[in-house]
Amino acid sequence: MALEPHVIHALPKVALHDHLDGGVRPQTLLDIAAEVGHTLPAGDAESLGDWFFEAADSGTLVRYLETFDHTIAVMQRAEDLRRIAREFVEDQAADGVVYAEARWAPEQHLAGGLSLSEAVEAVRDGLAEGMIAASNAGQTIVARQIVSAMRQNDRGLEIAELAVAHRRDLVGGFDIAGPELGFPPERLGEAFRYLQRHNLPYTIHAGEADGLESIWQAVQLMRADRIGHGVRIIDDVEPGDHGEWRVGELAAYIRDRRIALEVCPTSNLQTGIAPTYAQHPFGVLDQLGFTLTVSCDNRLMSGTTLTEEFTHLSSAFGYGVDDLYRFTLNALDAAFLSGPERANLQRDVVDPAYMLVN
Ligand SMILES: [Zn+2]
Repeated sequence: MALEPHVIHALPKVALHDHLDGGVRPQTLLDIAAEVGHTLPAGDAESLGDWFFEAADSGTLVRYLETFDHTIAVMQRAEDLRRIAREFVEDQAADGVVYAEARWAPEQHLAGGLSLSEAVEAVRDGLAEGMIAASNAGQTIVARQIVSAMRQNDRGLEIAELAVAHRRDLVGGFDIAGPELGFPPERLGEAFRYLQRHNLPYTIHAGEADGLESIWQAVQLMRADRIGHGVRIIDDVEPGDHGEWRVGELAAYIRDRRIALEVCPTSNLQTGIAPTYAQHPFGVLDQLGFTLTVSCDNRLMSGTTLTEEFTHLSSAFGYGVDDLYRFTLNALDAAFLSGPERANLQRDVVDPAYMLVN
């Protein structure tokens, strides 16, 4: 029996893969666009939300990425970054998320004259305000930012240095984002070596638009702590003759080393990885013992929440509360938080809530 959305909503959840510029509230877009003189494709919040979903639903990553021109246009002033980061935390908390990492690429937010550091500090302030606002509303949430470098630009090392310099400004780690095809992880090799030298963790988008070679580079050459999406690892898994699965060497390595995959089901459907939730590789990868976590990627473009993502997975694969707990612990274990902070969240917030429903 599939879980009811209200049950999922009430349980603590962990969001590891959520783009700050992919989760802007439609009304906030309208408000800021009016102030800065940016023209949007729709004039009211509801039709604007629909426009984003439809544009992202066209089936290709390139078209999907175009929608970000509009969100990024309203995120060029410190006060706007701060507001959007605060609302990010408030919206996650309202969905029952107790730990959230907001990833974004500071290099895309300099058109209004901000420096990279000022942009990171604006997001830090917004996240901090969001945590206070949620706490005042009786919700517990811890939020961090992940600083991303765009893989098509050649600023990887500079952005890695930025992330390290601001590790006390709620920066949990680093990521590379943008077009995966043609821009493999090894292009940003010096950024990752810098992060290794300075002990800052990182995740890498891989195995979304490109396949096994990209995942292999992220894991074996760049030693990523987690993989963004990674779902094309399914290409290294084949059905055998007797209903069993043959797991290739790379897939086995990722499974056996328990490298967490940040899976974003609706986003994957929109970019053509699977036609339906039931056909998404999630079910097979879970049966095979991969360390899976669930996230939204872009709540605006996918018109989704983490509650909805789990609702889809529960209907497709019959997941119950125990499974939701398992995926939540997978995500908490992989979070870019200190060990003691993770343990406290689990002991004080996650475990008591799941114990109540069991
Ligand atoms: Zn992403």
